[in-house]
Amino acid sequence: MADLFDKFQYIRQAHAQMVEAAGGDPLGVRVERILSPTEAEVGGRRCVLLGSNNYLGLTFDPDAIEAACAALRTSGTGTTGSRVANGSYASHQDLERQLAGFFGRRHAILFTTGYQANVGFLSAIAGKDDTILIDSDSHASIYDGCKLGDATVLRFKHNDAADLERRLRRLPAGSNKLVVLEGIYSMLGDRAPLADLVAAAKAHDAYILLDEAHSLGVLGEGGRGLAAEVGVEDQIDFLIGTFSKSVGTIGGFCVSNHPELEAVRLAARAYLFTASLPPSIVASASATLERIRTDASLRERLWRNTDIVYDGLKDLGYTVGPDKTPVIGVKMPDAEVGLVVWHTLMQHGVYVNLALPPATPQGTCLLRCSVCAAHTREQLQTVLDGFEAARAVLADQGAKVRAAE
Ligand code: PMP
Repeated sequence: MADLFDKFQYIRQAHAQMVEAAGGDPLGVRVERILSPTEAEVGGRRCVLLGSNNYLGLTFDPDAIEAACAALRTSGTGTTGSRVANGSYASHQDLERQLAGFFGRRHAILFTTGYQANVGFLSAIAGKDDTILIDSDSHASIYDGCKLGDATVLRFKHNDAADLERRLRRLPAGSNKLVVLEGIYSMLGDRAPLADLVAAAKAHDAYILLDEAHSLGVLGEGGRGLAAEVGVEDQIDFLIGTFSKSVGTIGGFCVSNHPELEAVRLAARAYLFTASLPPSIVASASATLERIRTDASLRERLWRNTDIVYDGLKDLGYTVGPDKTPVIGVKMPDAEVGLVVWHTLMQHGVYVNLALPPATPQGTCLLRCSVCAAHTREQLQTVLDGFEAARAVLADQGAKVRAAE
């Protein structure tokens, strides 16, 4: 008799093997108590958080917490409805105006998550005569949005402007083309060579969508992202972002100067058919965005800490991603070594994310670290001590930490 769950057998076996080898489940870690943006109790131990995406450490920002509490009291715990039904409050519209202002654009749409922003926007914009060109290392939400749309989807080599240009050249002149890029890539932390990619896209009259999930608050004047840093903001047609990283809460958005963005509200199913953000989340995102815009010292601290972790890991002999950013993908030679390092770090009070294929580029095993502005010197020393201890454990086993570049 057919078993509906047969398809999970491989996943379950691989997962069981991993749990055994790691001496715990790297994919099922329970945070018992969150103590601060950078510390939590995990497995009865105080751990430094090194995989939180909480780049600016703003999850405990007093103004954001106060604003959220006030909104909870005045407006309740949720909207219980979609933006096109009963779930469009004045505060959602105010936050959209704030986002538009933050990025110097005319239009903004809020989504309930960053995942939904990509899925909603891409599936709605992708008509059957259109072509979407995506980077091969694109986030799952970009792939999923493309899958739900009707456009032809082409992948170009990761961060390769010449390959993008070659693919654009083969498409009929006058056809609709949309190039989808990310500012900082989420696994290896490498930046898009944005000036070159933008030049290739614009030479063929393509529209550009840039997902600044990991670069919002991290790069550029006012924390506006990679496009601001590179000076190509006016060339980016659609900028997508999330509140789940630097902004320290949850939510997604798209900003643009194209007035047609307003029509996306009536076409994006991930906007139409899901409940809008709770007022408390809207209030905390609004407070945090203002802090990001006005407090450059957060970014300075983040980059100081990034220097310490990136350089320290390199000095210890680990293979890190090609660009120095707060997303530090530490490449492991194989999954077995990855599990040993992960386990040793946990024992030393460092909680990092283990990333395995298919979530990683080129089938690699990664310890995906993210640096936080709120990490203290002592915490960063604990992190480097943990990696040093892992290197010693591996040396005892005759294994090395260095992976192929
Ligand atoms: N885009 C990118 C590049 C991401 O890395 C992520 C989250 N990892 C998302 C979108 C989705 O964001 P959210 O967590 O808000 O759904």
